[in-house]
Amino acid sequence: MTELLWLNGEILSMSEAHLNVEDRGFQFADGVYEVIRFYHGMPFTLDLHLERLWKSAVGIQITPPMTPDSLGDQIGDFIGKTGIRDGMIYLQLTRGVSPRNHLIPDEIAPTLLFYARPLPPVTAPGKGEGVSLLSIPDERWKRCWVKSIALLPNVLAKNAAVAAGADEAAFIDLGFVTECSTSNLFAVIGDKLVTHPVGTKVLPGITRQVVLEVAGELGIEVDERAIREEEAPRADELFITSTTREISWVARWNDT
Ligand code: PMP
Repeated sequence: MTELLWLNGEILSMSEAHLNVEDRGFQFADGVYEVIRFYHGMPFTLDLHLERLWKSAVGIQITPPMTPDSLGDQIGDFIGKTGIRDGMIYLQLTRGVSPRNHLIPDEIAPTLLFYARPLPPVTAPGKGEGVSLLSIPDERWKRCWVKSIALLPNVLAKNAAVAAGADEAAFIDLGFVTECSTSNLFAVIGDKLVTHPVGTKVLPGITRQVVLEVAGELGIEVDERAIREEEAPRADELFITSTTREISWVARWNDT
């Protein structure tokens, strides 16, 4: 089946779509993104993703070209057209096209695109092989709450982790664990669920938010605080969360 792309309001075949070389997303990583899971053709926590997209966009002074409601409708309709039942939407919003210059022009129309990819069901939490984490210095900027497409520190950290035989990089900032290269990190310490607060150093993960809500419903005490690097391998449990992996238990922290 032809792979489809929603690009600035038009649905095209992915192979026929063209993007401008001077799109600021391409030249400056001047943009934000979202990854939205859908199950049985239905987007999961769509409103939370749209809310985060708007916060990210406004955070770097990009005005999305439509309302959250109409974008949500477009995403829902698009999923139906792809024929994919279980998968993810990758959505990218860049500042748009202008002659290459660090200065942002007054008049510029953002580029908005999204497409869908099928995903297999994940292994149930606690089952299967756990993930292996490698701790790596956190070299990212201080606006991690913006879901920026400038992901080079994450890309390099993830690749260093995989090259060392691990699955994910756990970022260490000033001796504390912040999050992982593509996921949030949780520790179970005693009867508490501990995770770093979101903000400058941690992305407000949607899966993290869902886990915290469920913990609240179950009466599990949550402590939003930074975890010291040496606490991590001594925690009773560690797990990581993201839209694509849901919840994965951690089997190994460095050599432990
Ligand atoms: N932190 C980082 C750095 C990420 O890249 C991701 C996934 N994009 C997450 C956390 C998890 O966020 P979410 O649950 O919204 O997928």
